Amino acid sequence: SVDVELRHVTKKFDDVIAVDNVSLEIERGEFFSLLGPSGCGKTTTLRMIAGFEHPTSGEVFIQGQPMGATPPFQRNVNTVFQNYALFPHMTVAENIAFGLEMKGVPKAERQRRVEQALRLVRLEGYGERRPLQLSGGQQQRVALARALINQPGVLLLDEPLGALDLKLRKEMQLELKHLQTSVGITFIYVTHDQEEALTMSDRIAVMNEGKVLQIGTPEEIYERPNCRFVADFIGESNFLEGRVTEVAPDRVVVVVDDSFPVVAPGGPAVSPGEWVTLAVRPEKIHVQPGSGQVGVNGHHGGRVEEVVYIGTDTYYLVRLSDRVTVRARLQNRSTGADGRGGLAHG
Ligand code: ADP
Ligand code: MG
Repeated sequence: SVDVELRHVTKKFDDVIAVDNVSLEIERGEFFSLLGPSGCGKTTTLRMIAGFEHPTSGEVFIQGQPMGATPPFQRNVNTVFQNYALFPHMTVAENIAFGLEMKGVPKAERQRRVEQALRLVRLEGYGERRPLQLSGGQQQRVALARALINQPGVLLLDEPLGALDLKLRKEMQLELKHLQTSVGITFIYVTHDQEEALTMSDRIAVMNEGKVLQIGTPEEIYERPNCRFVADFIGESNFLEGRVTEVAPDRVVVVVDDSFPVVAPGGPAVSPGEWVTLAVRPEKIHVQPGSGQVGVNGHHGGRVEEVVYIGTDTYYLVRLSDRVTVRARLQNRSTGADGRGGLAHG
């Protein structure tokens, strides 16, 4: 069933349109990410779901109920912010219990639920410490425990791992995903980090300039970006201009630079003769190391101009013609990919 729905939601701050006619449905128990560059409207969208902001037009529904001007504490949601917002003078247990105390939950019940929440975020035995005696990752877990203790139907997370270093962030990504699966509640997760969104999400909404451009599973978004922005923002792409020469249900042939044909998967509505922009992932370009042979779909030879080793992979800068170069990526000690590109309108 649908847990959270946005129907034609727009938010203006004076003449700035922060969120522009956004509609989406988030299923119960889903890990749903809002992904996009800084300033695209992710936080504002989340704040409207939380009830800290209200739409200029459109409506937010939570569990089927229109929220109107319902205040945050009357919504079945809780928010975890990037900067934790823990009270430094209180112990970890007091921080976690704070919301329950405000609601008048009796002490014994509070203690029981704090213990449970600490176990959930793997901080058993840390209840009597102060937040500043904990590492950044541990503080973030306290913030999570504090949000989860209210047993919200929906947890809203705004770049919660943004302050952590890369290694810890990767660990916490897996932990958060595991936590979400085990508690089974809906997570709406805001991030500008495409890799983070791909790793954790059931579905992703890609945003830019207040608009949702595409909604899909990580695989759909990566394999079938629906526009140039998405193809560029998620993963890496080579953009090649070309003319469509053949259209079949399962394939489209585009001739790039009047010289070499590229076979793309079918799907987009294009016609022969039309100019299009192809987005080709670096790992979809065949490279046979040693032979100097490179090709898009294996149709075309190219010349390797630069080789960059990055550990797991090696990048090749390949010149396909006087005017066209592409970046190819080959996983080290592995065979190449299938050489099919993706198609996006220019
Ligand atoms: P993101 O979280 O994706 O970085 P935000 O939702 O914070 O983006 O902001 C979207 C746009 O709305 C930005 O242009 C931002 O400057 C503007 N904005 C956000 N909050 C306010 C506010 N309270 N007053 C005025 N402008 C705001
Ligand atoms: Mg933000």
